[in-house]
Amino acid sequence: MLPPIADNFVAGEDAAAAIDQVRACNEDGVAGICNLLGEHYEKRAPADADTRAYVDLIRDLDDAGVDGCVSVKPSQIGLDVGEDAFRENLATIVEAGQTRDRFVWIDMEDHTTTDVTLDAFEHHARETGGDVGVCVQANLERTREDVERLADLPGKVRFVKGAYDEPPAIAHKGGDAVDRAYRELLEYAFREFDDGVAVGSHDPAMISLARDLHDEYGTDYEVQMLMGVRETAQRDLAAEGVRTYQYVPYGDKWFSYFYRRIRERKSNALFALRAVIGR
Ligand code: FAD
Repeated sequence: MLPPIADNFVAGEDAAAAIDQVRACNEDGVAGICNLLGEHYEKRAPADADTRAYVDLIRDLDDAGVDGCVSVKPSQIGLDVGEDAFRENLATIVEAGQTRDRFVWIDMEDHTTTDVTLDAFEHHARETGGDVGVCVQANLERTREDVERLADLPGKVRFVKGAYDEPPAIAHKGGDAVDRAYRELLEYAFREFDDGVAVGSHDPAMISLARDLHDEYGTDYEVQMLMGVRETAQRDLAAEGVRTYQYVPYGDKWFSYFYRRIRERKSNALFALRAVIGR
């Protein structure tokens, strides 16, 4: 069992807990994106084990009849072992998704992985006719060009600001610069994309921009937010009719993920402290 506070941001240690969280979200009209926590495996065995866990998770989501899909990290399913291992394991997960009609997202890690991740996405986007999605990061300067390439492909693209501290030579630095880049990417995507736009952000300004761009261009969009962050806003968006997803992390490697959530925002840390002292 997870300690209190951690269970605000992480569903639990096993797939059953993640599915329970998705079910609870569904009651409020919010769909789930399950992520088994784990990354940077240097050996094939844990990468293969997590691949099998995703295949089982897809089956279990389907058997449970909940509205949910999965999101995988390339380095969790073999990228640090080698590109072949990553490609083979991703193909296994995408095939399981196809069998059970469940969407598969590919998270984006640091800039050294961008090309191989986008290439893998392109392959599966074409092969499945669009039943996969990939994440792109506004803090990387290259993303504008990447997005022009993605505009012609089937499949979905999740726009985020970017969670990795990238070298200044290739990245927008500072909140304002990243926000500007994010806005420009959304404007481009709503104008040019046919398969919808996924807004992976908690930022009310970006969500309101997405709403305006949807009104202007008619492009479908969805909002994705993390478990434990702005959950009232998630429910409100769903109630307004915006397709809304909660990213639901789970698994025994929860500590570093939880620690990141606490560090990134004072309000999360205060929330944690209040829970500890019982007020
Ligand atoms: P920020 O710039 O962090 O915050 C902007 C505003 O949002 C704040 O001023 C506040 O009003 C509101 N807000 C933000 N956090 C909170 C909070 N805790 N409580 C209340 N209000 C808050 N990054 C990657 O690099 N690769 C990925 O694959 C990836 N996948 C993601 C998937 C999802 C579903 C989400 C939501 C994020 C993902 N990220 C990923 C992380 C992302 O890159 C950002 O680091 C993260 O989302 C923070 O940026 P933000 O857009 O939410 O806004």
